[in-house]
Amino acid sequence: MDFELSARTLELRDQLDAFIAERVDPAETIYAEQVVASGDPHFHPPIMEELKAEARGRGLWNLFLPESEYGAGLTNLEYAPLCELMGQSELSPEATNCMPPDTGNMEVLAKFATPLQVEQFLQPLLDGTTRSCFAMTEPWVASSDATNIQSRITRDGDHYVINAHKWFTTGAASPMCTFAILMGVSDPDADRHRRHSMVLVPFDTPGVSVERTLPVFNHDAGGGHCETLFDNVRIPKEYLLGEEGGGFAVAQARLGPGRIHHCMRAIGMAEKALRLMCERTQQRVAFGRPLADQGTIQAQIAESRIEIEQARLLTMKAAWLMDTVGAKGARFEIAAIKVIAARLATTVIDRAIQTYGGAGVTNDWPLAGMYGHARTLHLVDGPDEVHLQQIARRELRGYESFRSVDLS
Ligand SMILES: Cc1cc2nc3c(=O)[nH]c(=O)nc-3n(C[C@H](O)[C@H](O)[C@H](O)COP(=O)(O)OP(=O)(O)OC[C@H]3O[C@@H](n4cnc5c(N)ncnc54)[C@H](O)[C@@H]3O)c2cc1C
Repeated sequence: MDFELSARTLELRDQLDAFIAERVDPAETIYAEQVVASGDPHFHPPIMEELKAEARGRGLWNLFLPESEYGAGLTNLEYAPLCELMGQSELSPEATNCMPPDTGNMEVLAKFATPLQVEQFLQPLLDGTTRSCFAMTEPWVASSDATNIQSRITRDGDHYVINAHKWFTTGAASPMCTFAILMGVSDPDADRHRRHSMVLVPFDTPGVSVERTLPVFNHDAGGGHCETLFDNVRIPKEYLLGEEGGGFAVAQARLGPGRIHHCMRAIGMAEKALRLMCERTQQRVAFGRPLADQGTIQAQIAESRIEIEQARLLTMKAAWLMDTVGAKGARFEIAAIKVIAARLATTVIDRAIQTYGGAGVTNDWPLAGMYGHARTLHLVDGPDEVHLQQIARRELRGYESFRSVDLS
């Protein structure tokens, strides 16, 4: 394994760092003010379009896409440190067009889209003129088992008819969101992994509605996390993504790089929390000395550093495996980092909150918001338990002969 950062990554990292410091960080207040002034928590503030134009001008655009035809052509290993930087700055992923769920959607479109779909769906996303969402999870079934998904995609002549009730459709409330990639059952009689398909559903099609947004830890902003209904929605058959029955293949292609992105952003958040913790504990004096001089605080700082390094190394290994042997060969490392990065972020941010005392849980500091976000990472893209199960199953393979009970 060679995790040496390439010259290109180092250069881009410096450029991204400068962009965040010079333009994105100062824009955070303006962004918040523009949203408040609009009276709509899902308003798309003009400052974001200014940041996007600037990022594009600086060559910091679509960095996540390994396909050089569409994106920056970086490997997962090259992109990972850039993604970590973005994790430290809430607005930078969108400013650089590297924001989920669009990133995952662009990745699958780059892989599976027909020329018509490239023109109508992928290109506007690449240009940052629209946004999109991913509609898989449903309120009435345990969606961590994707074979449970019940929404129907029914072929009718030259059309598909969609009947679906989804929730946690992240981004659907954004005025920029123009379509969903939706997963549903297209052949209920097929094998359980060939039952589902993915389709592209434009939001201006009759029958599509965003019923409500779901505040997450009382936070309801940006594109929101939405409950969405698709009531007899007719789309042209050309909007099938991949092949009929190929929904799982598309879903899996979507998750590999996306998980690395999530994890590197989580590591970035943990780095930011540790930095804030170090600053605060040097400044704050209790019982006659700075908090940083207390042994228990030092232990927490040291544990945080160790855990960040561990998580980063494992994530870099997963990225390197993705680049060298592909997502299939990296699937256990990808499952492992998904668990580790969420755990790391919640643990380190929690420690940082504690060192800030009461201030840590207020909105005067970013820690409370970061904690809420980190906590959701234990669920987003599948709950921790599903990844642990996957790892345990591999670990237990070969030990079947030790079983003392025959349950058949
Ligand atoms: C902030 C946020 C954003 C999201 N964005 C999107 C999005 O854009 N699009 C989308 O489609 N979905 C999205 N989701 C949904 C997310 O992917 C699902 O919540 C997740 O997959 C779990 O599905 P579920 O909520 O139906 O939980 P369930 O499947 O009902 O599971 C409930 C719990 O059961 C336990 N469990 C499940 N399986 C096992 C197992 N094998 N072993 C032990 N315990 C187990 C876990 O503790 C799990 O949390 C988002 C979720 C959140 C919180």
